Amino acid sequence: MHRPLRLRCDPAALVRNYDVLRKTSGVEAGAAVKANGYGLGADEVVSLLLRAGCRDFFVSTWWEAAGIRGLADQGVAVLHGLGPDDQPLAGCRPVLNSVDQVARWKASPYVTEPCDIMVDTGINRLGLSLSQLDALDGLIIHTIHSHLACADQDHPLNDLQLQRFREVRTTISAQRFSLANSAGVFLGPEFAFDLVRPGLALYGGIPRPEARNHISPVAKLEAQVLQIRSVRVGESIGYNATFVADADLRVAILNIGYADGYWRSFSAIGAAWVDNVRCPVIGRVSMDLVAINVSDVASLAEGDWVELDFDLESAARQTRMSQYELLTGLGHRFERLWS
Ligand SMILES: *Cc1c(COP(=O)(O)O)cnc(C)c1O
Repeated sequence: MHRPLRLRCDPAALVRNYDVLRKTSGVEAGAAVKANGYGLGADEVVSLLLRAGCRDFFVSTWWEAAGIRGLADQGVAVLHGLGPDDQPLAGCRPVLNSVDQVARWKASPYVTEPCDIMVDTGINRLGLSLSQLDALDGLIIHTIHSHLACADQDHPLNDLQLQRFREVRTTISAQRFSLANSAGVFLGPEFAFDLVRPGLALYGGIPRPEARNHISPVAKLEAQVLQIRSVRVGESIGYNATFVADADLRVAILNIGYADGYWRSFSAIGAAWVDNVRCPVIGRVSMDLVAINVSDVASLAEGDWVELDFDLESAARQTRMSQYELLTGLGHRFERLWS
């Protein structure tokens, strides 16, 4: 069935970003592919990164691990660990996050397999605290992780977490240690340890200013024009009549809306590009529809495709949403094209 909404993803850009992250950190890079590969489609992302040499993938839950094609027997780590209702999958490692999870793993038949561990060095989210590391005795630990709270800022917690993680490394042994997410990669090589765990930057997000000009955009939003209409001066457009035409306008109605992750905060702020002409969003974003002003592109017709401006850094600034929210919000109605 024809879909009037496309997410056009650039495989070369994804692989280029992966290579940039590897080179910048100087160590191996795994890939966070949770939340359907940050909205871009985890099956494709995993298949492309496997071909590019990626050997570590991170998902949140076992359900996510089971749902990604071709992932199960690769190096998958399940970040939320092993809960009371979870059934481990062959080939996947839990990232054990608490003393209870460690006890659950020890009591399971899987205890002879390697597991990963999350240690909390200051984010106070998931992970064993530094005083609980005795609980790890007897485990076969593949990778010990910790997660940075403020890597996208210059913040004293970054160095504090680095120091604490170095102490962890002198206390427990494991095959590998891993601290940095995308932003952490750009904090400097001392944050890299043996493995970095980027998500956002793989998908074209700019986690810190240092990443600009190195990370390439991956996803483009393209919507089809459903209708072209003339709006007379003084008429309003859309819900609540928030926009009133100050001249006669030519308006295109696009097949995209907040149900697709094109949020209401793009109302009167977003834009689409038509033949390099910027066509601003006018009025409110609806659930399935958006109006843009196409008075300057006389050639645009019903059925034509336009590209929505989705530059992640500026869109995040304008909408006051994070680049993460903008990517992971991209809905299921897009046809995701990787070519
Ligand atoms: C999601 C996640 C990552 C990836 O973070 P980005 O900021 O997207 O690079 C890395 N580590 C952990 C533990 C995560 O939950």
